[in-house]
Amino acid sequence: MSSSISFLDQVHRMFDKAAAHTSHEEGLLKQIRICNSVYHMEFPLVRDDGSIKVVKAWRSEHSHHKLPTKGGIRFAMAVNEDEVAALATLMTFKCAIVNVPFGGAKGGIQVDRKEFSEAEIERITRRYTYELFSKNFIGPGIDVPAPDYGSGPKEMAWIVDTYRSLTNDPLTALGCVTGKPIAQGGVRGRTEATGRGTYFGIKEAVSFADDMESRGLTTGIEGKTIIVQGLGNVGYHAAKFIQEGGGIIVGLAEYEGAIYDENGLDVDAVVAHRKETGSILDFPGATNLAQSSDALEMPCDILIPAALEGVITSENAARIKAKIIGEAANGPVTADADAILLEKGVLIIPDVYLNAGGVTVSYFEWLKNLSHVRFGRMSKRFEQASNERIVKALADSMGATISEEEMMQVTKGADELDLVNSGLEETMATAYHEIRDVAIEKKTDFRTAAFIVAINKVAVSYSEMGIFP
Ligand code: NAD
Repeated sequence: MSSSISFLDQVHRMFDKAAAHTSHEEGLLKQIRICNSVYHMEFPLVRDDGSIKVVKAWRSEHSHHKLPTKGGIRFAMAVNEDEVAALATLMTFKCAIVNVPFGGAKGGIQVDRKEFSEAEIERITRRYTYELFSKNFIGPGIDVPAPDYGSGPKEMAWIVDTYRSLTNDPLTALGCVTGKPIAQGGVRGRTEATGRGTYFGIKEAVSFADDMESRGLTTGIEGKTIIVQGLGNVGYHAAKFIQEGGGIIVGLAEYEGAIYDENGLDVDAVVAHRKETGSILDFPGATNLAQSSDALEMPCDILIPAALEGVITSENAARIKAKIIGEAANGPVTADADAILLEKGVLIIPDVYLNAGGVTVSYFEWLKNLSHVRFGRMSKRFEQASNERIVKALADSMGATISEEEMMQVTKGADELDLVNSGLEETMATAYHEIRDVAIEKKTDFRTAAFIVAINKVAVSYSEMGIFP
């Protein structure tokens, strides 16, 4: 982190600012703020060449007010205990904001993926799962990991396979981790969920005329200029859905540098160019920017940091030109930068809300795993048949004819992906309204409002348990 205070301290500062707007008892606020448990492990990896490397890893469960706890596993060199605890804390509030009934957790494995073979990463992942299992830090009702920076469906498949071989409760084993491949119990729409949720959140934010006019913008995504940092799972999908929604992607940044074109960049063409040349740079028609961070300061309406935390600091905040910042990554804006940007009138859509699409769809995946049935399996044909009866009756009464293809299009029952996307859009829209209402009522920024919403919900949950009557 480029800021002098740690990531966890930054999260605590945000918490304290929001807590001051509530009237909960001091002890209860303390309980909501602290991290309930952290497991730090160090285990040996036998490398492909026979040498032994000691791997450091963590799992942090921030809040047990609801179980299971939930949060991704990060594979990165920069992972440390402070970061894992900060991210677990954000997960608790994120789940509360989008009404997902989980406590927050986060895992981290301190490795540079590029230095290890696939077989070595598999051994690390399986051993990490074993360590979690042996200390009761994983299970469908205990703690359910998911992908995060540096991990994806493949790692989740190794985790579920290892867990299944250890547990004596195979019936619920699939629910021990989310973000799995479809054939391993995953749900359709999970891979792109965080990016799609980012799109839904931004779409909601730009739909309020008051909030847009005060920043010299019109409503709607169409025609807005956007810069995205990070073309990984979250950044790529966010950029792609925004482009499909009519936004103009003028800048894209990866760790090797950034590109800018005020006429717009085609996201898939840039990804294909990067695959072919190994770099985002030298994309036809675009200007190269030497540093990824240079892109953050280029002109645009909406800036979406979607790579890592701490990229907008007190050092560069004053030079940011965007009027809206959509925090797709966790913690991209430091607490000091936050104050500078708010002073400038920038609308910051906070991470605890904006990137909650992943955990929302993870919740749907977990429900699917526990119910052992694909969403839409029981209802799709029934819906289609009843829609057909209605359309036929209407067409008959109007003397109209309708082709088989038209009939198919209007009567189709909802399948799993339709239901997941609809549940995600509803979740993101509802949560945005809740946060905005509190921001207006308390005359505060959206991050503080989001924390207030979360603190109140966690407080209710503790009170209902009778711990804090
Ligand atoms: P990812 O590993 O798929 O992608 C990260 C991308 O950022 C990579 O392409 C990497 O090359 C790039 N990157 C690294 N350093 C960079 C730099 N300095 N400048 C520009 N690009 C850089 O990870 P992800 O899953 O997309 O996660 C990104 C962020 O979103 C993280 O903060 C993560 O915690 C957060 N997040 C992810 C999910 C999820 O479902 N995957 C959910 C919520 C939040």
